[in-house]
Amino acid sequence: MADARPRVLILGGGFAGVGTAKQLKDADADVVLVDRHDYHTFQPLLYQLATGLLENTAVGHSLRDLLQGQDNTTFHKATVTSVDLGMREVQFAELAPITYDYLVFGLGAEVNYFGTEGAEEHAFPMYTLPHAMRLKDHLLERWEAADRDPSLIEDGALNVVVVGGGPTGVETAGALAELYRHAFAKDYPSVTADQARVTLVEAGPELFAMFKPKLRDYAAKALTERSVEVKTGALVASVSPTRVTLKSGEELKAHTLVWGAGLQGNRLVETLGLELQRGNRIGVGPDLAVPEHPEVYVLGDAAAIVDEKTEQVLPQLGSVALQSGEHAGETIASRIAGKETKPFKYKDKGTMATIGRGAAVVQMLGGRTMTGKKAQASWGVVHLALLPTNEDRAKAVVDWAGATFTHQRAGRITVESE
Ligand SMILES: Cc1cc2nc3c(=O)[nH]c(=O)nc-3n(C[C@H](O)[C@H](O)[C@H](O)COP(=O)(O)OP(=O)(O)OC[C@H]3O[C@@H](n4cnc5c(N)ncnc54)[C@H](O)[C@@H]3O)c2cc1C
Repeated sequence: MADARPRVLILGGGFAGVGTAKQLKDADADVVLVDRHDYHTFQPLLYQLATGLLENTAVGHSLRDLLQGQDNTTFHKATVTSVDLGMREVQFAELAPITYDYLVFGLGAEVNYFGTEGAEEHAFPMYTLPHAMRLKDHLLERWEAADRDPSLIEDGALNVVVVGGGPTGVETAGALAELYRHAFAKDYPSVTADQARVTLVEAGPELFAMFKPKLRDYAAKALTERSVEVKTGALVASVSPTRVTLKSGEELKAHTLVWGAGLQGNRLVETLGLELQRGNRIGVGPDLAVPEHPEVYVLGDAAAIVDEKTEQVLPQLGSVALQSGEHAGETIASRIAGKETKPFKYKDKGTMATIGRGAAVVQMLGGRTMTGKKAQASWGVVHLALLPTNEDRAKAVVDWAGATFTHQRAGRITVESE
């Protein structure tokens, strides 16, 4: 096998993994991409799936389809169980071990419950497509149960507590409130608004800590207008199937707790024998490789990438993951071809979040801000660029335009397996 082409093994088909694979299209290498799912998940739209605005295929795209036409690339659906950096070999639950010449670690992050009692068992996280579907099915099930037995309403069956005042929590709370106040208000006319409450709980003193004060105020006002109750400085102490208890002792009646409060690097990073940084992320050099293992690239949410301009660790964002993937792909292709490589330079498109229909915030690197419809349009442009194909972009434009002009939620049905 001395004359075999180098093998590039990409772990994870998220923004980082797919971005890398695409850049290796013409490389003289065997590229193998492995993910435990057979689809790429577009996480920024998970909350729209959970609230019935979008369907599965708008959020999950077949990885085999994305890699079609890339003759040097194969895909396997398998779960990574361990990585041996010394032996340059990766083990999987359902697949024989694979050795590599270059490894791309793009396994993302996972939910961090910070040891909150009952959260692992009873909270609804929002990180994967099954999470979003589970939340949607649970909400529909609670509303149907309350329709059959209205005494459940008094017990908090329709109330939702969303934990986390960052973009995931705020976006989810806003979308849930719109679902409740529009689609569900018509579907279940006997339920009044105060019988189905959405409460957003944040441990810090304010929502949207990463944004300027005027954007925080805007977000708080936009949530209140959508009848989301905001509790800041409130820490969740424990969760049961029907109650959320705060550290202050206050008990909230709610049959649903959505966890949008924190992430940590994929559990596998702990087994690599590398030094970990804050949030269980792996520190990488300017080329995105691990300093002790120049053949190993760690990207996206799993990596602590220092921005060469601000000297700060870049946030866990789709654009960071995609750009880091594209850079790693280009770098590996150059190394294989014996060409020079360049350090990674992040192109900041701004920090942004949507709160609901026509309500969003954007903060640019230079400090410029936008709110409202203009900010929502800007969010749309940046996020369209993250979608993996032109067909997905065209479909998203139609879906988003539909959502802007109507409150239609075609996805609010439950499909049980029989
Ligand atoms: C609810 C939510 C909303 C968000 N909104 C935005 C937003 O509006 N804008 C924005 O820029 N960013 C947003 N983000 C962040 C963004 O989605 C992430 O930063 C980005 O997805 C990270 O990409 P990644 O490729 O590093 O990891 P991921 O996209 O998480 O991909 C990791 C892949 O690895 C696979 N995997 C994990 N473990 C294993 C294993 N053991 N074996 C095999 N495969 C495995 C997973 O199936 C997954 O496909 C949001 C995130 C969430 C959760």
